[in-house]
Amino acid sequence: MTQTASRPPGTRVPLPLDVEAIRADFPILTRTVRDGKRLVYLDSGATSQKPRSVLDAERDFYENHNAAPHRGAHQLAEEATGLYEAARARIAAFIGGAVEEVVFTRNTTDAINTVAYALSNAATAKEPSFRRYAVGQGDEIVVTEMEHHANLVPWQQLCERTGATLRWLGLTDDGRLDLSDLATVVNERTKLVAVTQQSNILGTINPLEPIVARAREVGALVLVDGAQSVPHQPVDVATLGADFLVFSGHKMLGPTGVGVLWGRYEVLDALPPFLTGGSMIEVVRMEGSTFMPPPQRFEAGVPMTAQVVGLGAAVAYLQDLGMDRVQAHEEALTGYALEQLQAVPGVTVIGPPDTVARGGAVSFTVEGIHPHDVGQVLDDLGIAVRVGHHCAWPVVRRYGVPATTRATFYVHTGYDDVDALVEGVRAAQRFFGVTPEEATA
Ligand code: PMP
Repeated sequence: MTQTASRPPGTRVPLPLDVEAIRADFPILTRTVRDGKRLVYLDSGATSQKPRSVLDAERDFYENHNAAPHRGAHQLAEEATGLYEAARARIAAFIGGAVEEVVFTRNTTDAINTVAYALSNAATAKEPSFRRYAVGQGDEIVVTEMEHHANLVPWQQLCERTGATLRWLGLTDDGRLDLSDLATVVNERTKLVAVTQQSNILGTINPLEPIVARAREVGALVLVDGAQSVPHQPVDVATLGADFLVFSGHKMLGPTGVGVLWGRYEVLDALPPFLTGGSMIEVVRMEGSTFMPPPQRFEAGVPMTAQVVGLGAAVAYLQDLGMDRVQAHEEALTGYALEQLQAVPGVTVIGPPDTVARGGAVSFTVEGIHPHDVGQVLDDLGIAVRVGHHCAWPVVRRYGVPATTRATFYVHTGYDDVDALVEGVRAAQRFFGVTPEEATA
């Protein structure tokens, strides 16, 4: 991201996206909340709203094409398979990957567990070619203190199952990764490094290059959590240089119930399955079974077909907007929000204070008011934010706060939404009798 911190405070640079036109595409944004108030939706980081084209794609699938893909010798099954695979091809192109490298999962959490269980199952796999990446006693897994629980707990559990050790990179006071001990934390014993590209709580965009380079030096795999990056910035797996990229459909205008595990083909091909059953087998005998190559090896059972089709429509919507413009749009809003919020006495932003290497998740505390109370006042005004530890408990602990209030932006967010947020924070201060003057005293 480019630096916008030099802008005079309060400057509203023209937004790259036509907010009014985009809002008209989102049916939910026409409803009101809390006795007729406009919905100011600043919680896209938790889950995004869906444009009509995504809702239509799902409805059209169920109304006209519904069947189990890859099964049945009838026209509907053929059409369902065609739509399912066309969505896979579109999503693969969106991230610069090959079609056979895109595995559909339920969400990011499911994708990470698929990798974690594959790595522990590898140790006991009957097929020798599945043992290459086995994790066991003496091995190490590296994460960061910034991870969402989804990219932390599955690795803790993998270590418990295998006897491996979990290590992590810490954080600096201004909300960035502390890479000063990268060379020792990532070492010859490291089997995998799992790191988020963009923090869901701090907004930080991490420098992945040195991490990937160090992992390559020691022969470790790299998994990038793209849950908060793929929806908001151009991401290309070739540039990333990692082995896995995981993300959720519901955070990028798509339906719930569908996520993506992208894996470098030769790595996926050397991994045993996590879930087993129908759709992923080659030959089944009572004595044992063999498995399909990727991606089918990791897609057991009838998949979430309508959701995949809906995600394809979401990607098409984002491609029409252009991910460069989506990123620039959010950067402008983030710069403005940081300036406006930090101008309110008593408000402290947790995370990078400007837009350098930073995305649009703005977490803050308001002196003298618990984040849950801030959230309640905002909700009464029709403003939806998230409060709590944001499934990244070690992060709030690191910064010594019980929780934060978090606003997240997306393609339909405008300056009016940010103004409503800032005015809402001031209203909370008035409501709780913590006036700006008192807050600074
Ligand atoms: N990683 C990050 C950075 C996230 O923000 C989230 C969702 N908040 C997840 C992982 C988990 O995503 P999901 O709940 O869709 O599996």
